[in-house]
Amino acid sequence: MTLLECIIDFHRTSERQGPGSDEDTLKALSFTDLAGNRPLAIADIGCGTGASALILASHCRGSVTAIDLFPEFLEELNTRATLQFTDPPIKTLQASMDDLPLQKEEFDLIWSEGAIYNIGFEKGIRQWKDFLKPGGYLAVSEITWLTGTRPKAIEDFWTSQYPEIDTAANRIRQLEYHGYSLTGYFNLAPESWINTYYDPMESRFKEFLEKHDHSETARKVVEDHRSEIALYHTYKKFYSYGFYVARKDR
Ligand code: SAH
Repeated sequence: MTLLECIIDFHRTSERQGPGSDEDTLKALSFTDLAGNRPLAIADIGCGTGASALILASHCRGSVTAIDLFPEFLEELNTRATLQFTDPPIKTLQASMDDLPLQKEEFDLIWSEGAIYNIGFEKGIRQWKDFLKPGGYLAVSEITWLTGTRPKAIEDFWTSQYPEIDTAANRIRQLEYHGYSLTGYFNLAPESWINTYYDPMESRFKEFLEKHDHSETARKVVEDHRSEIALYHTYKKFYSYGFYVARKDR
């Protein structure tokens, strides 16, 4: 099994593949004026096993197109959707977020939690804008510096992982530059990293290692995630996911 296959196998049994919570998803939704009875066309890009797609589908009328690169995650999402709905208003689509087979101005709402970094925030907001109706909303969570300066160790770590990492002020400026108006912003609280993401992750380590007979690859996956958790506990006041909600200008 390759490292990538092993990482997918580790995350596919999880409700979330990144920090966040149902409450965060609903809070971000409250920064749009889309609640109400109008049926909405929603896309969830980098949906993983469907944490946000399932919440959106149960709180909005209309349909959710749930998009991810990896079919293993979409399969899990379909299973979860069938358990939750008799006729799931969710359609899965396997595609890469930088080459989306979507129509111009197709969506009222584009959602993306903890995933836009795969192509970079600025490229993502620029490309996805085409798929939003005028006045449609974009809601994305993105790793964000919480302070103007930070210790070198954490600065070096994140710049090696994701050189584009930035502060909320700069992200908001980019949104405005690319034709969006901000309607809401908040940082994910530590509970949205620990209770809903890292704690459930830690509880899966043992079983995952056993399943893979403690293979070198499986041990690497666990060690990498353990280091990520330790880093978060040491430096959490310097970074979080920022949730950006913005309306496409007409
Ligand atoms: N939104 C989910 C998953 C976040 S993890 C959650 O919050 O739980 C990031 C997701 O992006 C993963 O599911 C991963 O498979 C997906 N991904 C990575 N590269 C991608 C790409 N190029 N196109 C589409 N999805 C991608």
